[in-house]
Amino acid sequence: MISEKASQIGASPTLKISAKAKAMKAEGIDVVDLSIGEPDFFTPDNIKKAGIQAIEENFTRYTTNEGIPELKDAILNRLKEDLGQSYSRDEIIVSAGAKSSLYHLFQALIDEGEEVIIPAPYWVTYPHSVSLAKGKAIIVPAKEENGFILTPDQLKSAISPATKALILNNPSNPTGATYKRHELEALADIVLEEDIFVVADEIYEKFIYDDFQFTSFASLGEDIKKRTVIINGVSKAYSMTGWRIGYAAGPADIIGAMGRIQSHTTSNACSISQKASLEAFGGPQYEVSKMKSELQGRRNYVLMRLQTIPNVSCFKSQGAFYLFPNLSAYYNKEFNNVQIRNSYGMAYYLLKEAKVAIVPGDAFGADDHIRISYTTSMENLEKGMDRIIEALSGLKTAKKVKRIALNNTITREKKSVPVDSSLSVKMKDALVAEMESLLSFENYWEWNANINGVIVQLRTNVSHLNDFWIENWYPAQLEADLEPHGIIYAVDGIPGREPHSFYNSETNTGILVNTDNYAPLRSLALGLTTDVSERLFNVFSIRGMSADIEGNSAVLVGPKGTKKTELFFSLLQDQKFRLHSNDIIFVRFSGGKALADSVERKLFIPTNTVESYPRLAALFDNSKCENVITRKDECQDTECLNLDDCRLDRGSPYCYKASKNAHALLDPYWIDGPAKHVKRSAIRWLFILRYDTSSPPVVEVKVEDALRILESGESLGLKRDLTPSKSQPFYNPHILLKTPERLELQREFFERVLEGASCYLFNSGVASVEDMKKIITSEGDTEPE
Ligand code: PMP
Repeated sequence: MISEKASQIGASPTLKISAKAKAMKAEGIDVVDLSIGEPDFFTPDNIKKAGIQAIEENFTRYTTNEGIPELKDAILNRLKEDLGQSYSRDEIIVSAGAKSSLYHLFQALIDEGEEVIIPAPYWVTYPHSVSLAKGKAIIVPAKEENGFILTPDQLKSAISPATKALILNNPSNPTGATYKRHELEALADIVLEEDIFVVADEIYEKFIYDDFQFTSFASLGEDIKKRTVIINGVSKAYSMTGWRIGYAAGPADIIGAMGRIQSHTTSNACSISQKASLEAFGGPQYEVSKMKSELQGRRNYVLMRLQTIPNVSCFKSQGAFYLFPNLSAYYNKEFNNVQIRNSYGMAYYLLKEAKVAIVPGDAFGADDHIRISYTTSMENLEKGMDRIIEALSGLKTAKKVKRIALNNTITREKKSVPVDSSLSVKMKDALVAEMESLLSFENYWEWNANINGVIVQLRTNVSHLNDFWIENWYPAQLEADLEPHGIIYAVDGIPGREPHSFYNSETNTGILVNTDNYAPLRSLALGLTTDVSERLFNVFSIRGMSADIEGNSAVLVGPKGTKKTELFFSLLQDQKFRLHSNDIIFVRFSGGKALADSVERKLFIPTNTVESYPRLAALFDNSKCENVITRKDECQDTECLNLDDCRLDRGSPYCYKASKNAHALLDPYWIDGPAKHVKRSAIRWLFILRYDTSSPPVVEVKVEDALRILESGESLGLKRDLTPSKSQPFYNPHILLKTPERLELQREFFERVLEGASCYLFNSGVASVEDMKKIITSEGDTEPE
């Protein structure tokens, strides 16, 4: 299993798109690649020779950690000559690419939770590099109408007590925007006033067009220089992307810390590349000027072509080698009945239909745009632009435009939390006092839910939890005057505590600490309700999916990986079956029947259920959702990521399948109106699911055997994902108190249920939903023996 941090990180979208274009080319498809962030020039001969000479002279061993002294001196000279800035050797570190310098810099600079301001559109790596250092990226959108320049007011309002640094990428990838001296000075005043650092990524500094004067941030004065780390390298200016040499120049203490970190990552940068880079920085510079004038011609050409496209705006950039046109006027248009909804959709369309690879603006935090690199030959640029223009003119206005605005909350915590149900009254009192001290008036919500007759009061400081709570449950009548049966505190932002759930049964008190995710709150509420209703009302819960047919219900229980969801929703495809409950039922006995009630006003349902029941997708569009994935780099479905058919690529604004932790609160009556949902049903069939390839498909089990299996709660046979699942008495995680007496009560309860119901062991590895239906319909009219 990979770490959470790794599972949250997607590969660089630019690299992925270029890889796709290369793969298409390998298949013989004539793709024009305008996605790649490297010029099509080759490393100049004198530089290559220096590399070869290094090999011949056996300069192939470890070098000093922070770079060979003569290369550092060549860098110092460049900084002096080009920027008029003096640095000393201990203020320079050479690393395996500028990317590596940035990584080490954030590791050296940022403590957990400290904020780094990143103007958007930003280079894709910045937010990831910051979050890998446990910092928090604060994205500030620089506006197209301001030439994508961060304004002083924007900077001021983004600064908080936690701000550590600002990243200033000048000239910018992806917009090509360049900062004038007075614009930098205005930002520098704030930087000094607020005492923050600046990461000045100036890797495109050599590619400046027209008569623009480049200003390095560090050159704005000694005070500023002390707070600035310049990032640069040979990748762009000398066409040396593959040689992997970058550097950082800044205060000696920061550079020293980067060196210590680097000594444990890459050690030194490649020895051969360091020798070649010495030639690059120290040798003649005319190749750089040649490239620059060639690139300026290409920029003029692409810009001219873009300006001819109706409803497309494009900022005239004066640096780097990218143009960043705004194509949003073409979103919502369609081709062959497929609607383009966003920059991913546009990129997919251009790649598949026009055979041009560009990068969607969303990857840089600006979805209205696409990034075009003019790093390829004029001939390719002509072909590429012809194709883009033709493809755009082929888009038709969609007849029925519907831009879906998901009601989607992304929570900080995504997972379930450990539950401790043995909390003593004393500990409970101490915890409640701690919680209450954090529930301030201006941040406090309270609401009584009626969960199957049990009144549960939520007290929280998380507005999202309150919002979902109210949506999920029925309200308690006259709720303000009622004394609740139980209380749940859900308090976030408690220093020094991990996300955790606690329950004290004597006082019916639940406590949820430091999570803003709804799933653990709902679980705690169901655990509390299960406990209280067993004790007070002799009503028990069954964790299972329940489908009704003519007032009788078939209940499916079993551990994960036994196809419960697939089977359940396959049953529902049959119009005879009605949705009773997708997760939990509460059961009382009346007239010799076990009457099961569905208790949720809106069903809390994993959005990946759309895989079993596609019609749900349209309903989720209008439901309150939590943690639905809207960006490809957040997709957690590794199987799907490997396929070349991602719906986010095709322009879908979200993917319901991409995360196991995404949920919607669905009104069950939306599925097919009142005819398709029933709140009460009498339990008639109990299917205990298992999944393997060898045991018999369906076995009817005697009450004693069924009770034994339910009590052990073990997974039977192989699970689909082959990981052993923990046994859970009665397959019910909502039983919080597992004392022998309470488990005995469960056993007696199930014994009563099975007096009026038949029980089957159902092997979904072999048997199908048709087998299940056969049992249900053939026994429908007969009473069990
Ligand atoms: N910074 C920016 C803004 C870039 O665009 C890139 C390359 N795409 C880099 C840094 C990384 O360069 P290197 O090849 O030296 O790692």
